[in-house]
Amino acid sequence: MLISGQNGFICENCIEQAHTIVKDGASKTEYSPADNMEELKKPKEIKVFLDQYVIGQDQAKKQLSIAVYNHYKRLLHAKDENREVELEKSNIIMIGETGTGKTLLAKTIARELNVPFCIVDATILTEAGYVGEDVESILSRLLMVADYDVEKAEKGIVFIDEIDKIARKSDNPSITRDVSGEGVQQGLLKLLEGSIVNVPPQGGRKHPDQKYIQVNTQNILFIAGGAFDGIKEIIERRMNKQAIGFSSEKINKVDEDEYVLTNINAVDLRSFGLIPELLGRFPIITYLDKLTKETLVRIMNEPKNSIVNQFVELFKMDGTDLVFTEGAIEKIVEETMEKGLGARGLRGTTEKVLEDYMFSIGEEKNIVLTGDNILINR
Ligand code: ADP
Repeated sequence: MLISGQNGFICENCIEQAHTIVKDGASKTEYSPADNMEELKKPKEIKVFLDQYVIGQDQAKKQLSIAVYNHYKRLLHAKDENREVELEKSNIIMIGETGTGKTLLAKTIARELNVPFCIVDATILTEAGYVGEDVESILSRLLMVADYDVEKAEKGIVFIDEIDKIARKSDNPSITRDVSGEGVQQGLLKLLEGSIVNVPPQGGRKHPDQKYIQVNTQNILFIAGGAFDGIKEIIERRMNKQAIGFSSEKINKVDEDEYVLTNINAVDLRSFGLIPELLGRFPIITYLDKLTKETLVRIMNEPKNSIVNQFVELFKMDGTDLVFTEGAIEKIVEETMEKGLGARGLRGTTEKVLEDYMFSIGEEKNIVLTGDNILINR
């Protein structure tokens, strides 16, 4: 096909070639959160940024800041041609109940560093050849968010959610094929090891006629998260609870839970059903605290884009002043805690509380929500 211009024609082959040249030229710009050590944000600075969006979870924030800093330091180090020591990557596992901020932490870090970020749910993955998605589809998503700029994707962050759901189903792997458990763990190894992986561009299942995109996973940081229900009992069993001496009445339940979790290590995750090879690729294990009432109240108020701020803004567009009193916030929090969705439930409860006000928006210019005047219908 020939396309005419002002003084000539260009054929489709030339168009394609020219397009490739332009595209390659554009993506040649070095992609990294920092070009040198000075530009790289120090762990403390990363944590300060995280503090604006994620409330509490200091331990996890600290470990994550260090891990991410070290990761991007590694990338700078890898550019040094005279280097003698190879620095290896440290992926991270975050353990914490649902709605405690695991995804939020990973997402916020990626935003701060301005690197491509994607979330995948481990439960949709199956061993290659079975119904479900192959592990390579993880990289298809990362490529997609990086606009198919391979170099950019190769420095991204992947958050694998619900990693606990691919735990080995039984202690005896030979009874039935464990295609969504151990089989997926084996498949993930390939990605985590830092190798060149053939990725089907559209994601999903592989077709013989599809062209692969080769992605090197060596510099992709993997952060996995999971609730790991029952992990506390596993840790306690390992530590032999009597030896810790919780007979003292003074330690309350939350503190006790937290104390037990601080002791988590790879042995416990192995007992839970993760294979040792996989654990070896996740040297950093961190945990997120349960959200207490106080933390949830802070989550309502403090983050830059807190729920309170968002709804106040929404009402402002109709010229309505919306005010949440402390009493109202407390009531919303108490109601949410009963749902057991963690902070994730806060928005739903708030929506419910504001339903009638939003329906008749514009009619009242000042709305003050108090603990007494809000209605929560279950
Ligand atoms: P999960 O731990 O299940 O990955 P998320 O990170 O997806 O939980 O949290 C769900 C939502 O709850 C977030 O989008 C955020 O609005 C809120 N949230 C959870 N934990 C926190 C926290 N520690 N600080 C601020 N907001 C939080």
